[in-house]
Amino acid sequence: NKINIAIDGHSSTGKSTSARRLAHELGYLFVDTGAMYRAISYFALRENLITDQQLNTEKLIEELPGISINFQRNPETHINEVYLNGENVEKEIRTLEVSNVVSIIASVSEVRAKLVEQQQAMGKNKGLVMDGRDIGTVVFPDAELKVFMTAAADVRAQRRYDELKERGDDVDYQQVLENVLERDEIDSTREDSPLRQADDAMLLDTSTMNREQQFEQLMHWANQ
Ligand code: C5P
Repeated sequence: NKINIAIDGHSSTGKSTSARRLAHELGYLFVDTGAMYRAISYFALRENLITDQQLNTEKLIEELPGISINFQRNPETHINEVYLNGENVEKEIRTLEVSNVVSIIASVSEVRAKLVEQQQAMGKNKGLVMDGRDIGTVVFPDAELKVFMTAAADVRAQRRYDELKERGDDVDYQQVLENVLERDEIDSTREDSPLRQADDAMLLDTSTMNREQQFEQLMHWANQ
């Protein structure tokens, strides 16, 4: 019997990597909801709806009906890549520039309503691993397994820094750390669906766990 698995938590805890592998192993669909918020953020940056962290909220809300976000499987990497109005933006959404504004975009209720509706439709038939901030609390409050992932801030910043470096981005560790902390702060204190551990979520602190150990723990819970 297929189930839905909700994976929430702080930024750069290893959520996406572990969730993707878990989905692959179970033969489930993997959905990275952060990618959806990032795609809208990329749109807002490109259309100059946000400059110096000042968002033209009204204009963004006006544009929302015309924004379509989809996932398509890359046949080579088997990764579900994100598309913005038909354009593959998988690479563009991972920059620090997007990371710096995404929590502001994600605080807009109309943005959340649009994406939550789309996410709920994806989970109708079960057999889904979804990673985000509000999956166990808002999107799938009835998910059969909920996990909340966290880790020490410096560990998380180092992981994100290594990831960006690996992609060839010229980044500064301190900047990455500040972004990770700032996003957690905005995500946890926003009015609409703040980031929090659901009462029935399993807590996974990955501070001293490698990828293999994280995956093993998730598999163990999924098979219970
Ligand atoms: O998971 P990722 O770090 O890519 O998410 C980027 C940002 O998108 C988060 O910091 C948060 O502001 C927002 N987000 C959200 N709700 C989700 C997923 C992501 O608010 N379900």
